Amino acid sequence: MLKIFKKLLISFSLIVLLTNSVLAEKKDHNFTVTPVTKNVYSIIAPSYGLPSPENKGWNSNSHFVVTDKGVLVFDSGSSELIAKNIKQAIKTVTDKPVRWVVNSHSHADHWLGNAEFSDSGAEIIASASAKIIMKQDGPGAIDFFSRITKGATGSTRIRHPTWLLTQSEKRNIDGVDVEFIFANDAHSPGDILMWLPKQKIIFGGDVLNSDWMPIIIDHGNVDNLINTLQAVAGLNPTIVLPGHGVPTTVNSVIRDADLLSVVWDRVKEGYKAGKNKEEILTQISTTLEQKYKHLYKNFDEAIKQQVHEMYNKQKV
Ligand SMILES: [Zn+2]
Repeated sequence: MLKIFKKLLISFSLIVLLTNSVLAEKKDHNFTVTPVTKNVYSIIAPSYGLPSPENKGWNSNSHFVVTDKGVLVFDSGSSELIAKNIKQAIKTVTDKPVRWVVNSHSHADHWLGNAEFSDSGAEIIASASAKIIMKQDGPGAIDFFSRITKGATGSTRIRHPTWLLTQSEKRNIDGVDVEFIFANDAHSPGDILMWLPKQKIIFGGDVLNSDWMPIIIDHGNVDNLINTLQAVAGLNPTIVLPGHGVPTTVNSVIRDADLLSVVWDRVKEGYKAGKNKEEILTQISTTLEQKYKHLYKNFDEAIKQQVHEMYNKQKV
């Protein structure tokens, strides 16, 4: 009985914490650390789109777990300069060194900060297939980010992951049970999620979302994205930490899986029936608007992007 009560109390505290602090929309550009639960923290970026002069290149979240001997960082930001700020922010809660950095996937806003951490001895963890894309896209991404931020991202040296994962696996990292979950190229080739089974917290990279709609990209796999979302929902996480946007709950994962299933089916049906992209988009938007528009910040542009990408996938 006492156990159940304790469990309820913990869940309740988590919900209160999420409601009061983490879920509040972040407006400032300070690298503030938000406690998620004991030893788990988030550094939430104030903006979601691409790096820009306004956000000074800071467009993606980093999260971290404090272990006995060190810190594990999940996603290192879009440049060394961003990573320096992340490192400073971590120092406000612990003096322990960052010993591990997980890169959720190969998109450059999630890993170009690696050098700042590997310089001081951190091991970089990612999937082997993400590393292949990082090698291809890294140098171009540095130039691109520098251009679109008007130089705000500063100079960045590339550091690739050295601890390479080839399948989902369970680990105990310095006393913390961690599970790396392969999303099977759901959002991009080689993306991984990180699950803390004891705390019931999932770190989603760009596979999981809160107030933004799932991003469908040409090199992502929609069926696997839907399957991964359903599998994550099955884990029943208490807290969901996305790569962009505020932390959220399992309800967002279920919402995204349902939405994507409907859009994907309608696009396939429409394509088979010989309809063009715009006809399919109009039909889908009109049908889904009432149920979903208020749940996302970017419904109008994102539904267009989703339908277009899904339609293009029919032609392959
Ligand atoms: Zn991404």
